[in-house]
Amino acid sequence: MWRQLCYKSRLPLTYRASSYNHVSRRFLSQLAPQPVPEDISSGRRYLNLLVGFCAGASIYFFLDDPRLSPLDRPTLTPRQFISSKVLDNEPSGPNTKLLRLALPPHALPPAYSSDGSFDPIWSVYVKDDDIQVERAYTPLNGLESDGSMLFWVKKYPKGEVGRWLHSKQPGDKIELRGPLKTWPWKADQWDEIVMISGGTGITPFVQLFNRVISRAPATSTTKYTLLHCSRVPEELPPPTLLKPLFDYSKEHPEKFNLHLFVDEQDGSNPPVPIPHINTGFINEKSLTKCLNPNKAEESWWKGKFSWTTSSSKEPPKKILFLVCGPEGMVGAVAGPYGRNLSQGPVGGILGKLGYTSDQVYKL
Ligand SMILES: Cc1cc2nc3c(=O)[nH]c(=O)nc-3n(C[C@H](O)[C@H](O)[C@H](O)COP(=O)(O)OP(=O)(O)OC[C@H]3O[C@@H](n4cnc5c(N)ncnc54)[C@H](O)[C@@H]3O)c2cc1C
Repeated sequence: MWRQLCYKSRLPLTYRASSYNHVSRRFLSQLAPQPVPEDISSGRRYLNLLVGFCAGASIYFFLDDPRLSPLDRPTLTPRQFISSKVLDNEPSGPNTKLLRLALPPHALPPAYSSDGSFDPIWSVYVKDDDIQVERAYTPLNGLESDGSMLFWVKKYPKGEVGRWLHSKQPGDKIELRGPLKTWPWKADQWDEIVMISGGTGITPFVQLFNRVISRAPATSTTKYTLLHCSRVPEELPPPTLLKPLFDYSKEHPEKFNLHLFVDEQDGSNPPVPIPHINTGFINEKSLTKCLNPNKAEESWWKGKFSWTTSSSKEPPKKILFLVCGPEGMVGAVAGPYGRNLSQGPVGGILGKLGYTSDQVYKL
């Protein structure tokens, strides 16, 4: 409880300091000790006291002015929590919800589209007011023009913030700060980008899809592949996320490929009718097959030897793997993270396939 109280009082104090400077110059000049003429009348004494009292009272009310509360900061910024409002919080499958939050109009940053901070991929930190902890969540469409953000949020049995977010109702207030860069997108850097996700780890890639891949100009030559795994079919992402990905992969197979995996088939249905779902973990064989669909029947060992590739006249492809999901999955695909949130060496399947640290990024 005391932590909560300390926290709440600390933030307003930052504001108080700056507002205080603004008001105080005027006030202090009035209150500064002045030489009092001996013949001052008692009327003037009362007048001075009255002026002092009024100035003090105005400072008191100014500092408590709700417009200065951190909950109503004018813009969305990574440095300060601001208040947003829950618009919807709908179940979207086992233990997940689609949560839509709205920022007040004044919170939309002026440099919204020009300074690059809202270029994909970014997230916001949401503050759980009950226990004063924050967790990152990824707005699926970025910041929308009406100031809203849509999130796909998973609740873990012992997870704090996920459970807290699931309990929120339309109209409730939620504090957040951002944007915080998860991975800086840069156009025309790569021939192929391969995204590998597990569970809600798909959310950064959905943002990249919504903001970049689906809007890529016809001249863009970058090819994208998404391999996504969930535990069982019904835990695959809900239609809001999956359908645009699926439709786009059907319309533009030369630009975007989608491969879905489930650990096991338990008889449940996927949220979207999908002709083919792979069963089993993503492994070396299935990854190689997804990356080279036309060469699936070729001897796998051919690609292992440099003399076979060196004879090829094609320049080497610039390929990047982005991996996001539960730690176990990230470790199995790309090797575990290093200490202090560092990337760590490339290991797992991608390490075995010979990919290097400039080709692999763990989100
Ligand atoms: C940049 C970034 C973006 C993210 N975007 C999203 C998003 O869009 N949607 C979303 O739902 N989450 C997202 N996350 C994950 C999110 O920030 C939290 O880590 C997650 O919601 C768990 O937080 P919690 O407080 O509910 O659980 P905690 O209290 O932190 O964890 C309690 C227990 O839950 C289990 N647990 C926690 N996280 C995981 C996990 N990932 N896999 C398996 N078990 C776990 C563990 O057993 C843990 O001991 C993102 C994370 C990052 C770093």
